[in-house]
Amino acid sequence: MAAVTTAELHFLLVPLLAQGHIIPMVDLARLLATRGARVTVVTTPVNAARNSAVVDAARREGLTIELAEIPFPGPEFGLPEGAENMDQMTDLTMYLGFFKAVWKMEAALEDYVTSLPRRPDCLVADACNPWTRPVCDRLGIVRLVLHCPSTYFLLGVHQLTKHGVYDRVAGDLEPFDVPDFPVPAVANKATFRGFFQWRGVEQEARDVDDAEATADGLILNTFRDVEGAFVDAYAAALGRRTFAVGPTCAPRLHNADATAGRGNRADVDAGRIVSWLDSRPPASVLYVSFGSIAHLRDKQAIELAVGLEKSGQPFIWAIKEAKPGTAVGDWLAGEGYEERVGDRGLLIRGWAPQVTILAHPSTGGFLTHCGWNATLEAIAHGVPALTWPNFSDQFSSERLLVDVLGVGVRSGVTVPSSFLPPEAEGVQVTSAGVVRAVAELMDEGEEGMARRLRAKELAAKAMVAVEEGGSSHADLTDMIGYVSCRRKSAARGDAGAVARTDSPETIGDISGDKREADATRLSVQS
Ligand code: UDP
Repeated sequence: MAAVTTAELHFLLVPLLAQGHIIPMVDLARLLATRGARVTVVTTPVNAARNSAVVDAARREGLTIELAEIPFPGPEFGLPEGAENMDQMTDLTMYLGFFKAVWKMEAALEDYVTSLPRRPDCLVADACNPWTRPVCDRLGIVRLVLHCPSTYFLLGVHQLTKHGVYDRVAGDLEPFDVPDFPVPAVANKATFRGFFQWRGVEQEARDVDDAEATADGLILNTFRDVEGAFVDAYAAALGRRTFAVGPTCAPRLHNADATAGRGNRADVDAGRIVSWLDSRPPASVLYVSFGSIAHLRDKQAIELAVGLEKSGQPFIWAIKEAKPGTAVGDWLAGEGYEERVGDRGLLIRGWAPQVTILAHPSTGGFLTHCGWNATLEAIAHGVPALTWPNFSDQFSSERLLVDVLGVGVRSGVTVPSSFLPPEAEGVQVTSAGVVRAVAELMDEGEEGMARRLRAKELAAKAMVAVEEGGSSHADLTDMIGYVSCRRKSAARGDAGAVARTDSPETIGDISGDKREADATRLSVQS
Protein backbone atom coordinates (compact mmCIF):
# COMPACT_ATOMS: atom_id res chain seq x y z
CA MET A 1 0.00 0.00 0.00
CA ALA A 2 1.41 3.42 -0.96
CA ALA A 3 2.59 5.52 1.97
CA VAL A 4 0.39 8.47 2.85
CA THR A 5 2.31 11.57 3.74
CA THR A 6 0.94 14.17 6.10
CA ALA A 7 1.11 16.70 3.27
CA GLU A 8 -1.68 14.79 1.49
CA LEU A 9 -4.02 15.18 4.43
CA HIS A 10 -6.57 17.94 4.73
CA PHE A 11 -8.10 18.54 8.16
CA LEU A 12 -11.24 20.60 8.71
CA LEU A 13 -11.43 22.01 12.22
CA VAL A 14 -14.80 23.17 13.55
CA PRO A 15 -14.54 24.95 16.91
CA LEU A 16 -17.41 25.94 19.17
CA LEU A 17 -17.94 29.70 18.89
CA ALA A 18 -16.35 30.61 22.22
CA GLN A 19 -12.88 31.96 22.94
CA GLY A 20 -11.94 29.04 25.22
CA HIS A 21 -12.75 26.66 22.36
CA ILE A 22 -11.57 28.59 19.29
CA ILE A 23 -8.13 29.36 20.72
CA PRO A 24 -7.08 25.73 21.37
CA MET A 25 -8.59 24.70 18.01
CA VAL A 26 -6.50 27.32 16.21
CA ASP A 27 -3.52 26.06 18.22
CA LEU A 28 -4.30 22.54 17.01
CA ALA A 29 -4.47 23.84 13.44
CA ARG A 30 -0.98 25.20 13.94
CA LEU A 31 0.25 21.91 15.35
CA LEU A 32 -1.11 19.92 12.40
CA ALA A 33 0.18 22.41 9.86
CA THR A 34 3.61 22.32 11.49
CA ARG A 35 3.63 18.60 10.68
CA GLY A 36 2.89 19.42 7.04
CA ALA A 37 -0.89 18.89 6.86
CA ARG A 38 -3.28 21.31 5.22
CA VAL A 39 -5.75 22.72 7.74
CA THR A 40 -8.92 24.76 7.39
CA VAL A 41 -10.62 26.26 10.44
CA VAL A 42 -14.30 26.67 9.70
CA THR A 43 -16.02 29.40 11.66
CA THR A 44 -18.33 32.40 11.32
CA PRO A 45 -17.38 35.86 10.01
CA VAL A 46 -17.01 37.59 13.40
CA ASN A 47 -14.89 34.77 14.80
CA ALA A 48 -12.81 34.54 11.63
CA ALA A 49 -12.04 38.26 11.91
CA ARG A 50 -10.96 37.85 15.53
CA ASN A 51 -8.53 35.08 14.63
CA SER A 52 -7.26 36.24 11.26
CA ALA A 53 -4.15 37.98 12.64
CA VAL A 54 -2.83 34.78 14.25
CA VAL A 55 -3.70 32.67 11.20
CA ASP A 56 -2.11 35.22 8.84
CA ALA A 57 1.04 35.17 10.97
CA ALA A 58 1.13 31.36 10.73
CA ARG A 59 0.74 31.57 6.95
CA ARG A 60 3.64 34.00 6.77
CA GLU A 61 5.68 31.29 8.48
CA GLY A 62 4.75 28.99 5.59
CA LEU A 63 2.06 26.97 7.39
CA THR A 64 -0.93 25.93 5.29
CA ILE A 65 -3.76 27.13 7.53
CA GLU A 66 -6.84 28.85 6.20
CA LEU A 67 -9.96 30.28 7.76
CA ALA A 68 -13.24 29.47 6.03
CA GLU A 69 -16.41 31.37 6.87
CA ILE A 70 -19.89 29.96 7.08
CA PRO A 71 -22.86 32.09 8.15
CA PHE A 72 -24.24 32.09 11.68
CA PRO A 73 -28.04 31.94 11.82
CA GLY A 74 -28.24 33.87 15.12
CA PRO A 75 -30.93 36.35 14.00
CA GLU A 76 -33.27 33.39 13.26
CA PHE A 77 -33.09 32.67 16.99
CA GLY A 78 -33.49 36.20 18.25
CA LEU A 79 -29.82 37.17 18.46
CA PRO A 80 -28.65 40.53 17.15
CA GLU A 81 -26.70 40.61 13.90
CA GLY A 82 -23.00 40.12 14.63
CA ALA A 83 -23.52 38.29 17.96
CA GLU A 84 -21.60 35.16 17.04
CA ASN A 85 -19.45 34.35 20.07
CA MET A 86 -20.45 33.08 23.48
CA ASP A 87 -18.78 36.10 25.07
CA GLN A 88 -21.45 38.31 23.47
CA MET A 89 -24.33 36.51 25.24
CA THR A 90 -25.60 38.38 28.27
CA ASP A 91 -28.50 36.28 29.59
CA LEU A 92 -29.95 32.79 29.56
CA THR A 93 -32.36 33.54 26.72
CA MET A 94 -29.45 34.61 24.55
CA TYR A 95 -27.49 31.48 25.51
CA LEU A 96 -30.45 29.31 24.49
CA GLY A 97 -30.75 31.14 21.17
CA PHE A 98 -26.99 30.84 20.71
CA PHE A 99 -26.93 27.06 21.04
CA LYS A 100 -30.03 26.60 18.89
CA ALA A 101 -28.29 28.70 16.21
CA VAL A 102 -25.03 26.77 16.57
CA TRP A 103 -26.92 23.50 16.00
CA LYS A 104 -28.46 25.03 12.89
CA MET A 105 -25.03 25.46 11.24
CA GLU A 106 -25.16 21.88 9.95
CA ALA A 107 -26.56 22.73 6.49
CA ALA A 108 -24.06 25.56 5.92
CA LEU A 109 -21.19 23.26 6.90
CA GLU A 110 -22.39 20.56 4.53
CA ASP A 111 -22.76 23.07 1.68
CA TYR A 112 -19.23 24.26 2.34
CA VAL A 113 -17.75 20.75 2.44
CA THR A 114 -19.53 19.62 -0.72
CA SER A 115 -18.31 22.74 -2.52
CA LEU A 116 -14.68 21.72 -1.97
CA PRO A 117 -12.85 20.13 -4.92
CA ARG A 118 -11.85 17.17 -2.69
CA ARG A 119 -13.38 15.75 0.50
CA PRO A 120 -11.33 16.60 3.58
CA ASP A 121 -9.69 13.58 5.20
CA CYS A 122 -10.75 14.37 8.72
CA LEU A 123 -13.08 16.72 10.53
CA VAL A 124 -12.09 17.67 14.06
CA ALA A 125 -15.20 18.89 15.86
CA ASP A 126 -15.37 20.51 19.23
CA ALA A 127 -17.14 18.14 21.64
CA CYS A 128 -19.90 20.77 21.87
CA ASN A 129 -20.45 20.62 18.08
CA PRO A 130 -22.24 17.25 17.72
CA TRP A 131 -24.24 18.67 14.80
CA THR A 132 -21.15 17.97 12.65
CA ARG A 133 -21.72 14.22 13.06
CA PRO A 134 -24.48 13.76 10.44
CA VAL A 135 -22.42 15.76 7.93
CA CYS A 136 -19.45 13.42 8.44
CA ASP A 137 -21.67 10.34 8.33
CA ARG A 138 -23.32 11.41 5.09
CA LEU A 139 -20.07 12.40 3.38
CA GLY A 140 -17.90 9.59 4.80
CA ILE A 141 -15.42 11.80 6.63
CA VAL A 142 -13.36 10.59 9.59
CA ARG A 143 -14.54 12.52 12.68
CA LEU A 144 -12.44 13.25 15.72
CA VAL A 145 -13.75 15.11 18.76
CA LEU A 146 -11.68 17.74 20.55
CA HIS A 147 -12.41 18.20 24.23
CA CYS A 148 -11.56 21.63 25.62
CA PRO A 149 -11.90 21.03 29.41
CA SER A 150 -9.50 19.00 31.55
CA THR A 151 -9.63 15.21 31.48
CA TYR A 152 -9.99 15.37 35.26
CA PHE A 153 -13.34 17.03 34.65
CA LEU A 154 -14.41 14.74 31.79
CA LEU A 155 -13.59 11.58 33.73
CA GLY A 156 -15.18 12.90 36.92
CA VAL A 157 -18.48 13.72 35.19
CA HIS A 158 -18.37 10.33 33.47
CA GLN A 159 -17.89 8.44 36.75
CA LEU A 160 -20.47 10.47 38.66
CA THR A 161 -23.03 9.81 35.92
CA LYS A 162 -22.15 6.12 35.55
CA HIS A 163 -22.35 5.48 39.29
CA GLY A 164 -25.67 7.32 39.58
CA VAL A 165 -24.27 9.85 42.06
CA TYR A 166 -26.06 12.82 40.50
CA ASP A 167 -29.39 10.99 40.86
CA ARG A 168 -28.68 9.95 44.43
CA VAL A 169 -27.66 13.21 46.10
CA ALA A 170 -30.41 15.38 47.44
CA GLY A 171 -29.30 18.94 46.81
CA ASP A 172 -26.76 20.94 44.85
CA LEU A 173 -24.52 21.44 47.88
CA GLU A 174 -24.55 17.90 49.32
CA PRO A 175 -20.96 16.63 49.29
CA PHE A 176 -20.01 13.39 47.52
CA ASP A 177 -16.85 11.48 46.68
CA VAL A 178 -16.06 10.99 43.02
CA PRO A 179 -16.08 7.19 42.62
CA ASP A 180 -13.42 5.18 40.77
CA PHE A 181 -11.22 8.22 40.36
CA PRO A 182 -7.40 8.33 40.20
CA VAL A 183 -7.23 10.80 43.13
CA PRO A 184 -9.46 11.49 46.14
CA ALA A 185 -11.99 14.19 45.23
CA VAL A 186 -14.90 15.53 47.25
CA ALA A 187 -17.32 17.77 45.39
CA ASN A 188 -20.98 18.63 45.01
CA LYS A 189 -23.36 19.17 42.12
CA ALA A 190 -22.78 22.92 42.24
CA THR A 191 -19.09 22.46 41.49
CA PHE A 192 -18.96 19.23 39.46
CA ARG A 193 -21.65 19.06 36.75
CA GLY A 194 -21.18 18.34 33.06
CA PHE A 195 -21.87 20.83 30.28
CA PHE A 196 -25.44 21.31 28.99
CA GLN A 197 -27.06 20.62 32.35
CA TRP A 198 -29.68 23.36 32.21
CA ARG A 199 -33.30 23.37 31.20
CA GLY A 200 -33.97 23.83 27.49
CA VAL A 201 -30.92 22.00 26.12
CA GLU A 202 -31.82 18.39 26.99
CA GLN A 203 -31.68 17.27 23.34
CA GLU A 204 -28.37 19.09 22.85
CA ALA A 205 -26.94 17.25 25.88
CA ARG A 206 -27.94 13.89 24.39
CA ASP A 207 -26.45 14.89 21.03
CA VAL A 208 -23.14 15.74 22.70
CA ASP A 209 -22.95 12.35 24.43
CA ASP A 210 -23.92 10.43 21.28
CA ALA A 211 -21.43 12.30 19.11
CA GLU A 212 -18.63 11.52 21.53
CA ALA A 213 -19.63 7.85 21.86
CA THR A 214 -19.56 7.41 18.06
CA ALA A 215 -16.47 9.50 17.26
CA ASP A 216 -13.54 7.91 15.46
CA GLY A 217 -11.31 9.22 18.22
CA LEU A 218 -10.90 11.81 20.94
CA ILE A 219 -8.34 14.58 21.20
CA LEU A 220 -7.50 15.90 24.65
CA ASN A 221 -5.70 19.17 25.26
CA THR A 222 -3.53 17.89 28.09
CA PHE A 223 -0.33 15.96 28.67
CA ARG A 224 0.66 12.85 30.54
CA ASP A 225 2.71 14.51 33.27
CA VAL A 226 -0.36 16.35 34.53
CA GLU A 227 -3.20 14.00 33.62
CA GLY A 228 -1.81 10.65 32.45
CA ALA A 229 -3.93 8.58 34.85
CA PHE A 230 -7.06 10.52 33.89
CA VAL A 231 -6.36 10.13 30.17
CA ASP A 232 -5.89 6.36 30.46
CA ALA A 233 -9.02 5.96 32.56
CA TYR A 234 -11.09 8.11 30.21
CA ALA A 235 -9.87 6.26 27.10
CA ALA A 236 -10.76 2.94 28.77
CA ALA A 237 -14.16 4.22 29.95
CA LEU A 238 -15.13 5.52 26.51
CA GLY A 239 -13.46 2.77 24.45
CA ARG A 240 -12.20 5.32 21.94
CA ARG A 241 -8.77 5.96 20.49
CA THR A 242 -7.57 8.92 22.54
CA PHE A 243 -4.78 11.35 21.78
CA ALA A 244 -3.42 13.70 24.46
CA VAL A 245 -1.65 16.32 22.36
CA GLY A 246 -1.36 19.30 24.71
CA PRO A 247 -0.72 21.72 26.05
CA THR A 248 -1.44 23.30 22.67
CA CYS A 249 -0.45 26.66 24.18
CA ALA A 250 3.11 25.48 24.99
CA PRO A 251 5.45 28.37 24.15
CA ARG A 252 7.70 26.04 22.14
CA LEU A 253 4.85 25.63 19.61
CA HIS A 254 4.20 29.30 18.97
CA ASN A 255 5.78 32.32 17.42
CA ALA A 256 6.06 34.68 20.41
CA ASP A 257 5.61 37.72 18.16
CA ALA A 258 2.12 36.57 17.15
CA THR A 259 0.76 35.56 20.54
CA ALA A 260 -0.38 39.08 21.54
CA GLY A 261 -3.27 38.72 19.06
CA ARG A 262 -4.27 35.25 20.24
CA GLY A 263 -8.08 34.94 20.17
CA ASN A 264 -8.59 38.61 19.41
CA ARG A 265 -6.73 41.87 18.97
CA ALA A 266 -5.62 43.05 22.41
CA ASP A 267 -7.41 46.17 23.68
CA VAL A 268 -4.10 47.54 24.81
CA ASP A 269 -0.68 48.02 23.27
CA ALA A 270 1.16 44.79 24.10
CA GLY A 271 4.48 46.64 23.79
CA ARG A 272 3.42 49.02 26.57
CA ILE A 273 2.55 46.08 28.82
CA VAL A 274 5.87 44.42 28.10
CA SER A 275 7.80 47.65 28.89
CA TRP A 276 5.88 47.96 32.16
CA LEU A 277 6.71 44.34 33.00
CA ASP A 278 10.35 44.91 32.03
CA SER A 279 10.59 47.56 34.74
CA ARG A 280 9.47 45.12 37.49
CA PRO A 281 11.59 42.63 39.45
CA PRO A 282 11.41 38.97 38.38
CA ALA A 283 8.31 37.04 39.53
CA SER A 284 6.87 40.10 41.32
CA VAL A 285 3.71 40.82 39.27
CA LEU A 286 0.29 39.27 39.81
CA TYR A 287 -1.78 38.90 36.62
CA VAL A 288 -5.55 38.85 37.21
CA SER A 289 -8.05 37.55 34.65
CA PHE A 290 -11.39 35.76 34.68
CA GLY A 291 -11.28 34.62 31.06
CA SER A 292 -13.72 35.50 28.32
CA ILE A 293 -17.09 34.66 29.89
CA ALA A 294 -17.10 34.94 33.70
CA HIS A 295 -18.04 38.30 35.21
CA LEU A 296 -17.71 39.16 38.88
CA ARG A 297 -20.73 40.71 40.55
CA ASP A 298 -20.19 44.45 41.18
CA LYS A 299 -19.60 44.20 44.91
CA GLN A 300 -17.17 41.31 44.47
CA ALA A 301 -15.22 43.21 41.82
CA ILE A 302 -14.92 46.17 44.21
CA GLU A 303 -13.72 43.92 47.07
CA LEU A 304 -11.10 42.54 44.70
CA ALA A 305 -10.03 46.04 43.66
CA VAL A 306 -9.59 47.09 47.29
CA GLY A 307 -7.75 43.87 48.12
CA LEU A 308 -5.34 44.25 45.19
CA GLU A 309 -4.62 47.82 46.24
CA LYS A 310 -4.01 46.82 49.86
CA SER A 311 -1.87 43.83 48.89
CA GLY A 312 0.96 46.15 47.88
CA GLN A 313 1.75 43.77 45.01
CA PRO A 314 2.24 45.06 41.45
CA PHE A 315 -0.61 43.77 39.29
CA ILE A 316 -2.18 43.71 35.84
CA TRP A 317 -5.95 43.19 35.89
CA ALA A 318 -7.86 42.30 32.72
CA ILE A 319 -11.09 43.80 33.97
CA LYS A 320 -14.25 43.24 31.93
CA GLU A 321 -16.47 44.69 34.64
CA ALA A 322 -15.15 48.27 34.42
CA LYS A 323 -16.36 49.41 31.03
CA PRO A 324 -17.41 53.10 31.12
CA GLY A 325 -20.93 53.56 32.48
CA THR A 326 -20.92 50.37 34.58
CA ALA A 327 -21.22 50.40 38.38
CA VAL A 328 -17.65 49.16 38.77
CA GLY A 329 -16.33 51.61 36.20
CA ASP A 330 -18.07 54.48 38.02
CA TRP A 331 -16.74 53.28 41.39
CA LEU A 332 -13.16 53.13 40.11
CA ALA A 333 -13.45 56.61 38.59
CA GLY A 334 -15.19 58.07 41.67
CA GLU A 335 -12.53 56.67 43.98
CA GLY A 336 -9.68 57.85 41.79
CA TYR A 337 -8.59 54.21 42.06
CA GLU A 338 -6.11 54.19 39.22
CA GLU A 339 -4.48 57.44 40.38
CA ARG A 340 -4.18 55.99 43.88
CA VAL A 341 -2.66 52.73 42.70
CA GLY A 342 -0.44 54.67 40.32
CA ASP A 343 2.20 52.82 38.38
CA ARG A 344 1.83 49.76 40.61
CA GLY A 345 -1.29 48.51 38.84
CA LEU A 346 -2.42 48.32 35.23
CA LEU A 347 -6.07 47.84 34.29
CA ILE A 348 -6.84 46.40 30.87
CA ARG A 349 -10.47 47.13 30.05
CA GLY A 350 -11.08 44.40 27.49
CA TRP A 351 -9.00 41.74 25.77
CA ALA A 352 -5.57 41.25 27.31
CA PRO A 353 -2.52 39.73 25.58
CA GLN A 354 -2.67 36.98 28.21
CA VAL A 355 0.04 34.64 26.99
CA THR A 356 2.45 37.54 26.42
CA ILE A 357 1.92 38.54 30.06
CA LEU A 358 2.26 35.00 31.44
CA ALA A 359 5.42 34.43 29.41
CA HIS A 360 7.15 37.47 30.92
CA PRO A 361 9.67 36.66 33.68
CA SER A 362 8.29 39.48 35.87
CA THR A 363 4.94 37.68 36.13
CA GLY A 364 5.06 35.62 39.32
CA GLY A 365 1.40 34.77 39.99
CA PHE A 366 -1.87 34.36 38.12
CA LEU A 367 -5.20 35.05 39.81
CA THR A 368 -7.30 32.93 37.47
CA HIS A 369 -10.89 31.77 37.04
CA CYS A 370 -9.37 28.37 36.17
CA GLY A 371 -10.74 28.01 32.67
CA TRP A 372 -8.87 25.03 31.25
CA ASN A 373 -6.93 27.17 28.76
CA ALA A 374 -5.91 29.62 31.47
CA THR A 375 -4.92 26.67 33.65
CA LEU A 376 -2.76 25.16 30.91
CA GLU A 377 -1.28 28.58 30.15
CA ALA A 378 -0.29 28.96 33.80
CA ILE A 379 1.20 25.45 33.81
CA ALA A 380 3.02 25.84 30.48
CA HIS A 381 4.59 29.12 31.61
CA GLY A 382 5.46 27.96 35.11
CA VAL A 383 3.31 30.56 36.88
CA PRO A 384 1.67 29.54 40.21
CA ALA A 385 -2.08 30.16 40.37
CA LEU A 386 -4.39 31.91 42.79
CA THR A 387 -7.55 29.98 42.01
CA TRP A 388 -10.90 31.75 41.77
CA PRO A 389 -13.30 29.45 39.89
CA ASN A 390 -16.68 30.80 38.79
CA PHE A 391 -18.61 27.87 37.33
CA SER A 392 -18.60 24.69 35.28
CA ASP A 393 -15.31 22.80 34.89
CA GLN A 394 -13.39 25.61 36.62
CA PHE A 395 -13.72 24.01 40.07
CA SER A 396 -12.12 20.85 38.68
CA SER A 397 -9.15 22.81 37.36
CA GLU A 398 -8.80 24.36 40.82
CA ARG A 399 -8.69 20.90 42.45
CA LEU A 400 -6.11 19.77 39.94
CA LEU A 401 -3.90 22.85 40.41
CA VAL A 402 -4.09 22.92 44.20
CA ASP A 403 -4.70 19.35 45.40
CA VAL A 404 -3.01 17.27 42.70
CA LEU A 405 -0.22 19.40 41.21
CA GLY A 406 0.57 21.60 44.22
CA VAL A 407 0.97 24.76 42.11
CA GLY A 408 -2.03 26.73 43.34
CA VAL A 409 -3.48 28.56 46.31
CA ARG A 410 -7.24 28.80 46.84
CA SER A 411 -8.80 32.27 46.98
CA GLY A 412 -11.68 30.95 49.11
CA VAL A 413 -14.48 30.71 46.52
CA THR A 414 -16.52 27.56 47.21
CA VAL A 415 -19.55 27.71 44.87
CA PRO A 416 -20.71 29.51 41.74
CA SER A 417 -22.12 32.87 42.85
CA SER A 418 -25.63 31.85 41.70
CA PHE A 419 -25.70 29.48 44.72
CA LEU A 420 -25.08 32.27 47.24
CA PRO A 421 -27.93 33.81 49.23
CA PRO A 422 -29.06 37.16 47.74
CA GLU A 423 -27.75 39.12 50.75
CA ALA A 424 -24.19 38.02 49.91
CA GLU A 425 -24.43 40.12 46.70
CA GLY A 426 -22.02 37.73 45.04
CA VAL A 427 -19.20 38.29 47.54
CA GLN A 428 -17.22 35.21 48.54
CA VAL A 429 -13.79 36.76 49.00
CA THR A 430 -13.55 40.00 50.94
CA SER A 431 -10.76 42.53 50.40
CA ALA A 432 -9.03 41.08 53.50
CA GLY A 433 -9.35 37.61 51.97
CA VAL A 434 -7.75 38.89 48.77
CA VAL A 435 -4.83 40.39 50.74
CA ARG A 436 -4.30 37.08 52.56
CA ALA A 437 -4.50 34.95 49.41
CA VAL A 438 -2.21 37.22 47.37
CA ALA A 439 0.36 37.23 50.19
CA GLU A 440 0.24 33.43 50.36
CA LEU A 441 0.66 33.03 46.61
CA MET A 442 3.45 35.59 46.18
CA ASP A 443 5.22 34.46 49.37
CA GLU A 444 8.96 34.10 48.98
CA GLY A 445 9.32 31.87 52.04
CA GLU A 446 9.90 28.15 51.97
CA GLU A 447 6.38 27.14 50.97
CA GLY A 448 6.04 29.78 48.27
CA MET A 449 9.42 28.99 46.78
CA ALA A 450 8.67 25.26 46.75
CA ARG A 451 5.43 26.02 44.89
CA ARG A 452 7.30 28.15 42.36
CA LEU A 453 9.82 25.39 41.84
CA ARG A 454 7.06 22.83 41.23
CA ALA A 455 5.47 25.23 38.72
CA LYS A 456 8.77 25.64 36.85
CA GLU A 457 9.30 21.87 36.82
CA LEU A 458 5.83 21.34 35.35
CA ALA A 459 6.49 23.95 32.67
CA ALA A 460 9.69 22.12 31.74
CA LYS A 461 7.71 18.87 31.50
CA ALA A 462 5.12 20.57 29.29
CA MET A 463 7.93 21.68 27.01
CA VAL A 464 9.34 18.16 26.83
CA ALA A 465 5.89 16.67 26.16
CA VAL A 466 5.40 18.65 22.95
CA GLU A 467 8.94 18.21 21.64
CA GLU A 468 10.04 15.30 19.50
CA GLY A 469 10.28 12.26 21.77
CA GLY A 470 7.66 13.69 24.16
CA SER A 471 4.31 12.05 24.88
CA SER A 472 2.12 14.72 23.28
CA HIS A 473 4.33 14.88 20.20
CA ALA A 474 4.02 11.09 19.87
CA ASP A 475 0.25 11.19 20.36
CA LEU A 476 -0.09 13.79 17.61
CA THR A 477 2.01 11.59 15.32
CA ASP A 478 -0.26 8.64 16.18
CA MET A 479 -3.31 10.74 15.51
CA ILE A 480 -2.08 11.74 12.07
CA GLY A 481 -1.17 8.12 11.31
CA TYR A 482 -4.58 6.97 12.50
CA VAL A 483 -6.34 9.49 10.27
CA SER A 484 -4.31 8.51 7.26
CA CYS A 485 -5.25 4.84 7.86
CA ARG A 486 -8.90 5.59 8.21
CA ARG A 487 -8.79 7.84 5.19
CA LYS A 488 -7.13 5.07 3.18
CA SER A 489 -9.81 2.63 4.33
CA ALA A 490 -12.53 5.06 3.33
CA ALA A 491 -10.82 5.65 -0.03
CA ARG A 492 -10.87 1.85 -0.60
CA GLY A 493 -14.64 2.07 -0.34
CA ASP A 494 -14.72 0.42 3.06
CA ALA A 495 -17.58 2.60 4.27
CA GLY A 496 -17.63 0.74 7.59
CA ALA A 497 -14.18 2.13 8.31
CA VAL A 498 -15.82 5.40 9.16
CA ALA A 499 -19.19 4.26 10.42
CA ARG A 500 -18.35 1.16 12.45
CA THR A 501 -16.99 2.77 15.59
CA ASP A 502 -20.28 2.69 17.45
CA SER A 503 -20.29 -1.09 17.51
CA PRO A 504 -19.35 -2.97 20.71
CA GLU A 505 -16.34 -4.39 18.86
CA THR A 506 -14.85 -0.94 18.67
CA ILE A 507 -11.88 -1.70 20.84
CA GLY A 508 -10.92 -4.61 18.61
CA ASP A 509 -11.21 -2.35 15.59
CA ILE A 510 -9.21 0.27 17.31
CA SER A 511 -6.30 -1.97 18.09
CA GLY A 512 -6.27 -3.14 14.46
CA ASP A 513 -6.22 0.47 13.37
CA LYS A 514 -3.54 1.20 15.92
CA ARG A 515 -1.25 -1.41 14.44
CA GLU A 516 -1.79 0.07 10.99
CA ALA A 517 -1.35 3.58 12.39
CA ASP A 518 1.89 2.57 14.06
CA ALA A 519 3.17 1.26 10.76
CA THR A 520 2.00 4.38 8.96
CA ARG A 521 3.62 6.61 11.55
CA LEU A 522 6.94 5.74 9.96
CA SER A 523 5.82 7.42 6.77
CA VAL A 524 4.26 10.45 8.44
CA GLN A 525 6.35 13.58 8.53
CA SER A 526 7.18 14.82 12.00
N1 UDP B 1 -7.83 35.29 26.88
C1 UDP B 1 -6.99 36.30 26.43
N2 UDP B 1 -7.23 37.56 26.86
C2 UDP B 1 -8.22 37.88 27.71
C3 UDP B 1 -9.06 36.84 28.19
C4 UDP B 1 -8.83 35.55 27.76
O1 UDP B 1 -6.08 36.05 25.64
O2 UDP B 1 -8.37 39.06 28.07
C5 UDP B 1 -7.63 33.91 26.37
C6 UDP B 1 -6.91 33.05 27.38
O3 UDP B 1 -5.51 33.15 27.19
C7 UDP B 1 -7.47 31.68 27.07
C8 UDP B 1 -8.87 31.94 26.53
O4 UDP B 1 -8.89 33.31 26.17
O5 UDP B 1 -6.70 31.08 26.05
C9 UDP B 1 -9.96 31.71 27.55
O6 UDP B 1 -10.12 30.34 27.77
P1 UDP B 1 -10.32 29.73 29.20
O7 UDP B 1 -10.55 28.28 29.04
O8 UDP B 1 -9.19 30.13 30.07
O9 UDP B 1 -11.57 30.45 29.81
P2 UDP B 1 -13.05 30.81 29.25
O10 UDP B 1 -12.94 32.14 28.63
O11 UDP B 1 -13.43 29.72 28.28
O12 UDP B 1 -13.86 30.81 30.49
